[in-house]
Amino acid sequence: MKLTLDNRAVNILNHINAGVLYCKNDEYSTILYANDHFYEMIGYEKDEFAILFGNRFAELVIDDISSILKSIDAHIERDEDLNFEYRMRNKKGEIFWVHDTAKYEKEYDCWYVTIMDITAMKSVEYERERLEFYLNSMPNKIVIYDTDTKVLYKNYSARNCCYYNQEASTLHQIAGESLMGTTIEDILSQAKEGHHVNYETRIQRNERFIGHDRNHLIPIKNIEGEIFNYMQVSEDLLSISDGLTKLPTRDMFEKYYHMHISKNDKVDIYMAIIDIDFFKKINDQYGHHIGDEVIKNTARRLTVILDKEDYICRFGGDEFIILFVDQTLDVVLEKCKYILHAGSTPMVDGNEEIKVSYSIGIASNQSASDYQELFEQADYALYRVKSRGKGDLLYYNNMED
Ligand code: GH3
Ligand code: MG
Repeated sequence: MKLTLDNRAVNILNHINAGVLYCKNDEYSTILYANDHFYEMIGYEKDEFAILFGNRFAELVIDDISSILKSIDAHIERDEDLNFEYRMRNKKGEIFWVHDTAKYEKEYDCWYVTIMDITAMKSVEYERERLEFYLNSMPNKIVIYDTDTKVLYKNYSARNCCYYNQEASTLHQIAGESLMGTTIEDILSQAKEGHHVNYETRIQRNERFIGHDRNHLIPIKNIEGEIFNYMQVSEDLLSISDGLTKLPTRDMFEKYYHMHISKNDKVDIYMAIIDIDFFKKINDQYGHHIGDEVIKNTARRLTVILDKEDYICRFGGDEFIILFVDQTLDVVLEKCKYILHAGSTPMVDGNEEIKVSYSIGIASNQSASDYQELFEQADYALYRVKSRGKGDLLYYNNMED
């Protein structure tokens, strides 16, 4: 078939920034006409391409397009345009992606084709997929929010976290209820200033912690320094908590105090050190396994009395510490008395009924100026209870000497 185009038409087609082709409807899409841009894309001269490949377009396609070719008749029948993406190879051997749209012309059994190089777009998509693969491989939960703190993205760990409300669509709904030692407003006012903010969240169910995270809210900025997203990366603290009780460790306890509590000198803080009396005897009489159960049971009893911002740790052995945050002395004493009383309710393990008693020493930031002093005063109060015969509590500020 002889194809003649006048100069004006050729001129127009050569000014189009896409490959424009007119091809036979055969298995090679043999080219009857192609504009200059097409030859620039493939890197061959017009004559060179005709000699080397007999003008067969399909020779430069490297993807298996048999499924496309098979569906062509169906497209023609339905009078549908073709719309495909596939890869081609240029003269230098470089591979590039094209988007191909083609319109069928019945009269000459030919196709009007345009092809666009979409390699750059494909590489962005590829990078995005790769990035998502990395994010999904992270053990941390990662949530990305927009500047109104609406959830945009959750990685695999966040999507599958059993204590996340999976219906939640904002930072407030994800973290608000379980925040410790701070508020959403505080976190956001710092993050909006561009600061990286740290906070803990804790979820308790049936007297146990089922989730405890240290979270980092990281403002993500563009090259002009404007924040366009916030990324929350959450590190699972339960996995590094005390193995037996799943309570935080002493190290986590001290971090929490220094990060959230020590800065706020207006808030009332009480520290209680709780120690199991004659624990060695329990181990000796019933065995270590029962001793472990007593420790776990004590942890559950103590977890019950915690308020939202209170912190607890297993200090070591049979000793626990609680930080009571922003509560009155009366409330703290009530809660500690509840623990003393709970000890007389026997723990049952198999046939064994084990009663325990506790000794508790309490101190407050009204008399102690820093963590060390607070701890020493509570420890001294505990020592006094122990030396007086155990099974009681003592508040450092009420001691006679
Ligand atoms: P007091 O009444 O003065 O508090 O004495 P106690 O016997 O309770 O305390 P002591 O400090 O003399 O002994 C604590 C024991 O706790 C010593 C140690 O063998 C035991 N222990 C420490 N950690 C664990 C544990 O994880 N499991 C068990 N079963 N025993 C532990
Ligand atoms: Mg003890």
